[in-house]
Amino acid sequence: MKTWKKLLLLLLVLILLSQIPFAYRRYKLGRLNAAIQQTNSQRVAIQDDFVEYKGAMHVHSFLGGHSTGTFDEIIAAAKSNQLDFVVMTEHPSKNFSTAEMTLKGIHAGVLFINGNEVITADADRLLVIPGNGSAADTDQHSTPEVVTEAKATNATVIVAYPEEFKSWDSTDYHGVEVYNLYTNAREINPIVMFFDGLWSYRSYPDLLFATFYERPAESLRRWDNAIVARKQRLVAVAGNDAHANVGLALKDTAGNTLLGLKLDPYERSFRLVRVHVLIPHGSPLGAETLRGALAAGHCFIGFDLFSDSAGFRFTGSNANEIRIQGDEITLERDIRLNVTAPIPSRIVLMRDGNPIQSASGVTMKEFVVTERGSYRVEVYLSQLPGSVGEQPWILSNPIYVK
Ligand SMILES: [Zn+2]
Repeated sequence: MKTWKKLLLLLLVLILLSQIPFAYRRYKLGRLNAAIQQTNSQRVAIQDDFVEYKGAMHVHSFLGGHSTGTFDEIIAAAKSNQLDFVVMTEHPSKNFSTAEMTLKGIHAGVLFINGNEVITADADRLLVIPGNGSAADTDQHSTPEVVTEAKATNATVIVAYPEEFKSWDSTDYHGVEVYNLYTNAREINPIVMFFDGLWSYRSYPDLLFATFYERPAESLRRWDNAIVARKQRLVAVAGNDAHANVGLALKDTAGNTLLGLKLDPYERSFRLVRVHVLIPHGSPLGAETLRGALAAGHCFIGFDLFSDSAGFRFTGSNANEIRIQGDEITLERDIRLNVTAPIPSRIVLMRDGNPIQSASGVTMKEFVVTERGSYRVEVYLSQLPGSVGEQPWILSNPIYVK
């Protein structure tokens, strides 16, 4: 055989060998898909005093720059995901109020709240819900000043990008965005994702999320520590940080798209992770009841791509009262912490950020605790194959035993 033929053959063999891991990863996504179907069939119904609403938080449109998403796309994506609410968080503009111009009120049966994502003079980023006209000059003010001003307008303030946040002990914000889809997606290795996309995008476009989804360990640690240090309640939420701007587009000179591949269209983003909010029966869902429930921590984070987390409950009770996640409860002799999951799962109870007790393969578990502290649970679908079974499916808000 001629030398060039040998080289060509060698090259071909190398190319084929390099694809084995990606073909195998596609096979694993197929197995994960089957396991999710099987898991979903084991769902149990839950009834209590609350109505559960699910939604997406931290969403950008074309208004705040670096996004091309239209209102129609966002409304359609919320509707197709059967979301009850969407919290918009537009970047401010010096020239107009993006909070006033973005989606608010009911559209196609979905409740929208018009928030802002602002940056302070300390380079901290905050979600202000709803936003206000003064968002444009927050970069001239310190983080405590911005929080105080936002709270004066009765807004809910959430720390965004906690891994970069510096003003932990100086201000009284309401919550922390402990998971951000965009931050997690930045960990993607583009070469690996290119080949994974080539092999798996057509069959499992959503499940590609499973190849990079990871427990936000650092953000959770900072949140847990802030609760202990501040001795105050602090709500956890997840942000979709949806822009619909990650991907590739090839356009002709007239601006027509010849080839478009969006990795984060709103419809997909809204399917991966959601915030579930609990509102008592009899109070209708509206901007005020939704913000009230969020600010109170009556909510949890569900990575619903792996199974709908609706029906998860976490309550604490002593001899006199029952409280739900986000609430404080007084320690008498002991406190009973009850967890209900809609699917058999592994439930891990954490105290002040440290795992202390767990149970596997259960839909109900009662933990009895006798010490004060901030108690929260992480729920895992250990039955799912691969790394997904080792990452949390649900992150609760804490019950604060005082
Ligand atoms: Zn953002």
